[in-house]
Amino acid sequence: MAERRPFDRLWLGAHLATMAEAGPGLGVIQDGAIGAINGRIAFVGPETALPHGASAHETMRLDGRWVTPGLIDCHTHIVYAGNRAAEWEMRLGGANYEDIARAGGGILSSVQAVRAASEEALRAQALARVDRLLAEGVTTIEAKSGYGLDLDNERKLLRVARSLGAARAVRLVTTFLGAHALPPEACGDRDAFIDEICTTMLPAIAAAGLADAVDGFCEGIAFSPGQIGRVFDAAHGLGLPVKLHADQLTNGSGAALAARHGALSADHLEYTDEAGAAAMGAAGTVAVLLPGAFYMLRERQAPPVAAFRRHGVGMAVSTDCNPGTAPLVSLLLAMNMAATLFGLTVDEVLRGVTREAARALGLLDSVGSLEVGRACDLAIWSVQHPVEIFHTLGHNPLFARVFAGNVTD
Ligand SMILES: [Zn+2]
Repeated sequence: MAERRPFDRLWLGAHLATMAEAGPGLGVIQDGAIGAINGRIAFVGPETALPHGASAHETMRLDGRWVTPGLIDCHTHIVYAGNRAAEWEMRLGGANYEDIARAGGGILSSVQAVRAASEEALRAQALARVDRLLAEGVTTIEAKSGYGLDLDNERKLLRVARSLGAARAVRLVTTFLGAHALPPEACGDRDAFIDEICTTMLPAIAAAGLADAVDGFCEGIAFSPGQIGRVFDAAHGLGLPVKLHADQLTNGSGAALAARHGALSADHLEYTDEAGAAAMGAAGTVAVLLPGAFYMLRERQAPPVAAFRRHGVGMAVSTDCNPGTAPLVSLLLAMNMAATLFGLTVDEVLRGVTREAARALGLLDSVGSLEVGRACDLAIWSVQHPVEIFHTLGHNPLFARVFAGNVTD
């Protein structure tokens, strides 16, 4: 398995939760070793299986610590300006998400703030949040647009998102979310705005290479299944994969819509029914669960986790980091919430921020598991057992983070 040349780096004396597809549970290897060459994993296995005489330019002993793949936050709106703390105060006073949206608040107040902000200001604010995630072992982050809602401002958000990946040792995946909300200048004409997305915004953004995928918000307060379907067809015409904010506040058959279009993921899913879960299972669409929004909105109905299990739907867990419904910069806390609020098992949670999150981004071949040939993105934890990674609220047991074979601060 190992190549003959020395490893660039070699980690010894670790317990590995490989998340390898073939293995049961977490794919655990006790007393394991990982070797990296050119940023990729060149050896992973029991230390005793290392080829005789294997050498490395740098060797690190981990003294029984646990290693997982670097964590993946696969659903964020991390590039934004300002905050919506006042709106939260309104909600605590009894207003709901729809009340706030209909009153012109919610997403549209973030749109105003983003349109007024410079790229530099957006980058500085987003980097502070990115740094919080990296400190918890995150090595891949998805970032959506959707607070610009016109071509110039959507491009601005996506350029800032791309620049975050250049500014930090992290893999940044971008998603165009033009169909997030109706901008005020559309004067209530949802169909005309969808036309503009399909014929102007999406082609320009695709041509500039600014988006890795296309997302939409299918909900009574946002866009209908028919309107989202048009966006998805346009995206596919440009060779871009799709994903969907689905069934968050009501059952709008968003899960089935996403599945019908072969979406990488459908996200939120509190109100998804059995048929929606079955469609997702058949299509291989990942369920991205976002307990931070569920918690902040004080929702009562949890996603149908048992139905997802019955239909073999992969489940990912993410922060949904955004200024309104999920002001959350801790993936570890989202993981704890996914277990506590949604009833995921420890193994499901850990797969949900590694292998399944990679699948939700279409990156399963390159990240999300410890396997030869994958990127050497590692999170090294000072824990005795994997459950301790996200058991203690407010405690971060990360020992070291490795991105593309390099130990980062
Ligand atoms: Zn979202």
